[in-house]
Amino acid sequence: MTRPTPALTATVPGYPRIGPDRELKRALEAYWSGASDRDDLEATARAERERTWRRLAALGLDAVPSNTFSLYDQVLDTVALTGAVPPRFAPLGLDGLDTYFAMARGADGVAPLELTKWFDTNYHYLVPEIGPATRLHLDPAKPVREYREALALGVDTRPVLLGPASFLLLSKPADGAPGGFAPLDRLDDLVAVYALLLATLADEGVAWVQLDEPAYVADRTDAELDALRRVYARLGELPDRPAILVGSYFGDLGDALPVLASSPVEAIGLDLVAGELPAEDVDGLDGKIVVAGVVDGRNVWRTDLDAALATLRAVESRAGAVAVGTSCSLLHVPYDLDAETALDPQLRSWLAFADQKVAEVVTLAAALRGEDRSAEFAAARAALADRAAAPRVVDGGVRTRLAGLTADDARRGPYARRADAQRDRLGLPPLPTTTIGSFPQTGDIRRARAAYRAGRLDRDEYAGRMRAEIERVVRLQERIGLDVLVHGEPERNDMVQYFAENLAGFVTTEHGWVQSYGSRCVRPPILYGDVSRPAPITVEWATYAQSLTERPVKGMLTGPVTILAWSFVRDDQPLGDTARQVALALRDEVGDLEAAGVGIVQVDEPALRELLPLRAATRPDYLGWSVTAFRLATSGVADATQVHTHLCYSEFGDVVAAIDGLDADVTSIEAARSRMEIVPDVAASGFGRGIGPGVYDIHSPRVPGADEVEALLRRALADIPGERLWVNPDCGLKTRSYEQVEPALTALVEAAWRVR
Ligand code: GLN
Ligand code: ZN
Repeated sequence: MTRPTPALTATVPGYPRIGPDRELKRALEAYWSGASDRDDLEATARAERERTWRRLAALGLDAVPSNTFSLYDQVLDTVALTGAVPPRFAPLGLDGLDTYFAMARGADGVAPLELTKWFDTNYHYLVPEIGPATRLHLDPAKPVREYREALALGVDTRPVLLGPASFLLLSKPADGAPGGFAPLDRLDDLVAVYALLLATLADEGVAWVQLDEPAYVADRTDAELDALRRVYARLGELPDRPAILVGSYFGDLGDALPVLASSPVEAIGLDLVAGELPAEDVDGLDGKIVVAGVVDGRNVWRTDLDAALATLRAVESRAGAVAVGTSCSLLHVPYDLDAETALDPQLRSWLAFADQKVAEVVTLAAALRGEDRSAEFAAARAALADRAAAPRVVDGGVRTRLAGLTADDARRGPYARRADAQRDRLGLPPLPTTTIGSFPQTGDIRRARAAYRAGRLDRDEYAGRMRAEIERVVRLQERIGLDVLVHGEPERNDMVQYFAENLAGFVTTEHGWVQSYGSRCVRPPILYGDVSRPAPITVEWATYAQSLTERPVKGMLTGPVTILAWSFVRDDQPLGDTARQVALALRDEVGDLEAAGVGIVQVDEPALRELLPLRAATRPDYLGWSVTAFRLATSGVADATQVHTHLCYSEFGDVVAAIDGLDADVTSIEAARSRMEIVPDVAASGFGRGIGPGVYDIHSPRVPGADEVEALLRRALADIPGERLWVNPDCGLKTRSYEQVEPALTALVEAAWRVR
């Protein structure tokens, strides 16, 4: 590298992009539906980018990122950047933008790229497909255009890109790739594309580029570490290039840190919230700028500035220089706390959203270089002390109850005894049919909920509407001939938010939207204090449903791990303690459902795998507390009460033992999409209770026929005895329409009859 390394003292690896009012979401959906054209979309996108650069510069960052904007997903952007568009999209004859959206959403019978979780977050990325013949070539239009746009506003930015090694590690082999091929086999070709990209950016005048390698915070083989070494040796030696910051987040780089420290890159970004301080003797680190992520980019609590400054000083003693950053992209938190005008002032004083976090970064950088920021530090200290001492955070009753727990509270009787009691009580046929809980959420239901929330509908009218919907759904299920019915969940906006609104210890926000994928956003509740259940939550709906029918109705709850995974959780006690508190609140609900005559209760844990630590060494601890929490929630019931759980992902490898550990009487899992691929694994693990591998892929509008469902059931029967096999869809039906759901469930029931 020939040019001098420009200043870098305060920065963030990324920022939200959906728009403070979800402007981009609306613009995308209007474009997709044909209600607007591409100029409208581009105008909204450009306005959001410009707003972001202006804002970040105004807040005082001396190094503002660009190319953190995306019309859908940053991994998909990298597919476009490197030309790695799977060949099935070519016959569609679409141009760049519409090919991009076709890869994200599918088009005319062409399947989209697979959507999957981004590390251990609730963000989802599109999985690139790389084969031996994938033609890789550079299309630098997006990062170049964004760099120029920002420069025109007077902001000289640092383009942020997914690094080549992580890109390939996050990819899957393209269809038809020979066995033994791994996307990483294409590393040299891809690095050539990145080399060209760096040259192009250098020509533009770009001083710094950020290449993210988050794949290296997970366990990696020696060959994968060597790949990282090769990438940065090669890019580092380019004669004319921007300075390189290699970003990492969501954990420790582990063995990848010495690799990067001894490479010719100028800077390394570390997550010092999820990860630890680097060791004192990492060779080469004293020649690097370390961008120390000391402000939590994934949670909403105000930073302990004193502790963060101490960390920065410790890093300073080990590195060539230290810059201040957030632990990861701010994509994972809402924009601005100031928008939350309804939040009570005390609680608000404990929080920081994206803009407040940027301000913390700037404050820390100033303090680090010796400027007087005592006022900000004093304010942060006071907020922290207030939070630590606040009576609303601690509930003595909850603490006492937690302290009194014994192992027996998380243990039910032997399964064989339970199975007998349940058989006697429920009298279900072999291969019982059921659903996962939700039925389609119609416009009427949504309007009723909104009207109730806004005070336009009183409690009685609202309950009447919900009861009418429940009755309709119960009758429909009877007509279709399902064996175990559900009430349909019409009262729930979201499976976590609904419980958060009804439990003590949580608050919800008005504008705290966070991108989940594409135009889809979620609004995670904030879990700030000890959790308890002031009053029954679901009992009235479940018992109403049960009162309408002779068939068993299954009560429906969201499990403790999923509630934690999809909320912003307190950081002042171990997650396991928080999980046990939520579990006890749910245990009360399970008990009340049982007492009210509900014989089956399902506790959903779709996020059990999502929170699984990225490194194997920390998994046993996680699986220990998460399984215990589920069992605490569900072990207070009699043998004759049947506990179900539902898990919705199909990569079970890492959690198969935990599924057994949950000790649920019946477990439904997603399986239709993978054509029952996971059933042999579950069977081989020795799992010996009821299991319902999904036979209807609810992610697609397609309606399966009875023959198809029958074939899946017969396939499952190869590994699972008939007396333990349940028949159900992959997941809830809330995103589908009745036109799809009714024939699909009819086919499911018909297939079960045939196989019986
Ligand atoms: N009971 C929930 C539903 O049916 C489960 C959703 C989920 O697994 N994500 O919608
Ligand atoms: Zn599911």
